[in-house]
Amino acid sequence: MNKQEGSSVVSLRNQNGLPLLEVTDLHKYFRVRSSGGLFGKKNNLKAVDGVSFSVSRGETLGIVGESGSGKSTIARLLLKIDNPTSGVIKFNGRKLSGLLPVELRKLRQHMQYVFQDPLGALDPRMKIIDQVTEPLIIHNIASKSECHDKAAELLRSIDLKDHTFYRYPHELSGGQRQRVVLARALIMEPQLLVCDEPTSALDVSIQAQVINLLARLRERMGLTMIFISHDLNIVRHICERVSVMYLGKVVEQAQIDLLFNSPAHPYTQALLSAIPIPEPGLNRQRIFLKSDPPSPIDLPSGCRFHTRCHRAKPGCAERIPELKSLKNGQLVACHLAHGEI
Ligand code: SF4
Repeated sequence: MNKQEGSSVVSLRNQNGLPLLEVTDLHKYFRVRSSGGLFGKKNNLKAVDGVSFSVSRGETLGIVGESGSGKSTIARLLLKIDNPTSGVIKFNGRKLSGLLPVELRKLRQHMQYVFQDPLGALDPRMKIIDQVTEPLIIHNIASKSECHDKAAELLRSIDLKDHTFYRYPHELSGGQRQRVVLARALIMEPQLLVCDEPTSALDVSIQAQVINLLARLRERMGLTMIFISHDLNIVRHICERVSVMYLGKVVEQAQIDLLFNSPAHPYTQALLSAIPIPEPGLNRQRIFLKSDPPSPIDLPSGCRFHTRCHRAKPGCAERIPELKSLKNGQLVACHLAHGEI
């Protein structure tokens, strides 16, 4: 169907054995003034600080952390909305940094982004059907009527009724709008879908519907996904593996069941302790973090989490813990978890 497939500059053929996405030692620093207004000293804000991970085809990786942990910056770097300070991102074995603009445009068809705020992501002056058809027309995928039919079929498959196709975004509910944003991302049949807090602007009942829809679409389309959220409980319902981030670094990475059953990092333990247990009579002891997160431009020495950690020891402020594997394969950056203090 794609008129341009034969001339594609970026080869997107399956390369067996390679992960779809590989991220190695990724850094993103911003130069910001710490104090003193216009004449204040400039410092590095280490938004992403040495992050590595890979995602296999068909897998869904969750990235979890508080606001300011660097998770949304990672999404922007993956889609090349921003450039990294250093590090390598490979998609289908190709380094993103080496691509020509024409190659990058082709690649973007295969990496789509679902934003947090559906209203902000849609054009208020365009009808729904036109918004979903637009990417096909821009990329010259098919004739106008074929594009229209394809968009209508996709909208129906995500439970939007025909009468909504000719409405404007402000005439739809929040859940319907997020479905339209999803349809706009999926119409290009991407290989990778990056979802950045896709349900945070929705009511709790609608959140569950959108998560179920995403899971259904992932199965049907064989999608690979990165699902970014501040909420471990939501991530549990959609992800196979999860990376927990704190102040620009991954502090724990594990298969989702392992992480929920035996969290090894004190920060993960604190996040999980805040999730209510559905069974009546069962309670988890809540772990309260000691203080607010420190300033990202004035990071604590040693383990960045030591100022808030309920298990911190004196040595924690002296050495930076490495992210390394426990016997069960769980990756953890904590001296205590590795028996080092
Ligand atoms: Fe807490 Fe120390 Fe582990 Fe850091 S290294 S998470 S401060 S116990």
